[in-house]
Amino acid sequence: VRAAATTPDDLAPRRRPRAGVPDDEHDGAGSRGGFWNAPDTDPAVAASRSWAAEIVARDPASVHPRTAPLASADDVDAVVARALAAAPGWAAVPPGVRGDVLRSCADRLEDARADLVATMVHEAGKTVAESDPEVSEAVDLARWYAGSADRLHPDHPDAFPGVRFTPRGVTLVTPPWNFPVAIPAGGVLAALAAGSPVVAKPAHPAPRCFEVVVDAIHAALDAHGIARDVVQLVRVPESDLGRRLVTHPDIARVVLTGSIDTARLFARWRPALDVLAETSGKNAIVVTASADPDLAVADVVRSAFGHAGQKCSAASLLILVGTAGDPRSPIGRRLRRGLVSAVRSLAVGPPTDLGTVMGPLTEPADGKLLRALTRLDPGERWLVEPRRLDDAGRLWTPGLKDGVQPGSWFHLTECFGPVLGIMTAEQIDDAVEIQDDVAFGLTGGIHSLDDAEIDEWLATVHVGNAYVNRHITGAIVRRQPFGGWKASSVGPGAKAGGPHYVAQLGDWTDASPTA
Ligand code: GLU
Repeated sequence: VRAAATTPDDLAPRRRPRAGVPDDEHDGAGSRGGFWNAPDTDPAVAASRSWAAEIVARDPASVHPRTAPLASADDVDAVVARALAAAPGWAAVPPGVRGDVLRSCADRLEDARADLVATMVHEAGKTVAESDPEVSEAVDLARWYAGSADRLHPDHPDAFPGVRFTPRGVTLVTPPWNFPVAIPAGGVLAALAAGSPVVAKPAHPAPRCFEVVVDAIHAALDAHGIARDVVQLVRVPESDLGRRLVTHPDIARVVLTGSIDTARLFARWRPALDVLAETSGKNAIVVTASADPDLAVADVVRSAFGHAGQKCSAASLLILVGTAGDPRSPIGRRLRRGLVSAVRSLAVGPPTDLGTVMGPLTEPADGKLLRALTRLDPGERWLVEPRRLDDAGRLWTPGLKDGVQPGSWFHLTECFGPVLGIMTAEQIDDAVEIQDDVAFGLTGGIHSLDDAEIDEWLATVHVGNAYVNRHITGAIVRRQPFGGWKASSVGPGAKAGGPHYVAQLGDWTDASPTA
């Protein structure tokens, strides 16, 4: 179903200069704009910048010349049939060998860094500064899940005792377009680690990114003499064929990252579907009067406007607690002024301009996002009003609104774009109540220099990823396993990039002699 990708010789993979963006940070927003704009005094900075300049100058068609054609119903059935046929062979590969294959995938993904970043820039509109750490995340996931595969062998020193693991079978991986490399790679590699063949369905706005990931994985499978049918990519139109795939009786499990609406649609299509889903978020950062205002402003802006707010982990609400919420108090004034000038200073433009900090929306703003960018509800006022910069409706300046009311539309609705709303709360428990009223519980953060405040918030907040004095996007593999609570997650719930993610993808039986 898919066309083979070729890499012309003059575009052979090149590794990024080592001294560039740190590999252990997976979030390129905000501060990276400073990095790319830094003076050329450090040769490592200059080398990284010239690497980035080469990437944005590429002809997108040369990176991955042909995208896979849209599949027909017969193609869908044939792909699933081939995956099913590949299942016993892949399940029989010892877990440690599966781990080796994943370690090769990590190397191939690293080798493909330039191609992956170029595809993200040109296809998904991500800046180099946002794309480059995403490749690092994909590489980290490959290595981490390789270790998870090793551990499934009963003789491994860290094996789960007394239980035996069985792979589940053909797994459909359906990722979103906002992290078009790390999330697809993570889904496929985790399923592979768990001994299951994969049918990979790219998200519509960014299929090529997933294709370049699959090319790297295929190269690793080839090197180990494993048939490519273990991972097959199939592009289907959203409607009928998506349904055929999701409801196909030979698809044993679905790994979905996408909106809550998609998760609900899948559940309607196939009520007994075995799905593992990371869905939506409406995330808040709480800032108290004890916070360092400069750090808080930098982290809030980075969390809200990185990749133009198109992350389910993004900050959409800022909850100012106590005197921090009062615009007449020194701290309240300083926070608002700092935010306004930081938001106004964000350089908006095309991702091919290295000075751009906030790039375009992947798809033109409509629906909820358009409402959020263009309308105020009672009590709200713009501190920085968003402006549309292009005819297509993809390029917007960021918006900052004050006076968002508890229970209002903006308080409770995920908008997935560059708008941040300010709310106020008397105390920490009021702030947590504001967070609790939201259906989702993905990420959240607190900026405070008071241990009692931090402890109270951590003990009571209901989010999957709770960050203290840090931006709330860019979870780091192993250090911050990523996943939500409440309506942000469907399924067993072990987090991506954590110790049990792969283990939850198969079935366990009692292996004790008395069983
Ligand atoms: N893992 C990403 C992060 O920590 C978020 C994934 C998403 O937004 O879909 O920022």
